Amino acid sequence: MTRDLPTHHRATDPGGYVGSFGSVTWVHCPQCNKAARKGRGGVSCAHCGHRTIHSKMPRPDRWALPRKRHPVCEQCDQELPHRPAPTAHTVDGELRMTIICPHCDHKADYPAVRASSPQSRPPYEPLRRFLETQVAGETLWVNNLAHLDAIEQWIGAAVRERGDRPGLTMMARLPRWMKASTNREKVLRGLANLRERAQRAGIDE
Ligand SMILES: [Zn+2]
Ligand SMILES: [Zn+2]
Repeated sequence: MTRDLPTHHRATDPGGYVGSFGSVTWVHCPQCNKAARKGRGGVSCAHCGHRTIHSKMPRPDRWALPRKRHPVCEQCDQELPHRPAPTAHTVDGELRMTIICPHCDHKADYPAVRASSPQSRPPYEPLRRFLETQVAGETLWVNNLAHLDAIEQWIGAAVRERGDRPGLTMMARLPRWMKASTNREKVLRGLANLRERAQRAGIDE
């Protein structure tokens, strides 16, 4: 589906901060890497069923380390991270853990040894935002479709007006490069790409 770039209209700052646009952030699922929904209750993935609740530590008996000091991906042969993760399980009496290759996204089980669950640092790597792309050497990202719509309306507008709720709104905080008229077309194209990616990934909010 092609969509005309929305330009030449007049836009009023709707006010609000970034969290007021939509209630979810789409992230890469830590288990299957597809689009997963992150809301107040944690992450849930409709593709693989992965679910986390961020306020609770994952079960301590699930923590393991790769048995090899320098594990390599069975598909692309590149080095895998050697760090504890809460993905341990037993296959035929052997401890294994699931690792997603950071180079080729291949997901597989590897021999593992028990590791203690980390207490002081967050149990997960930060989740990667799903709707993110490079524009003019910068990272353009949105949390969800409502966020995308709002930025598209704003950046595409020929005339931008402050709303009746002034102050440091989400729009007022947008980085300078996004608001620069020289980058306007690029940013709008970047947003259109993100919209396509969202559609392909089944993102609907
Ligand atoms: Zn998943
Ligand atoms: Zn790999």
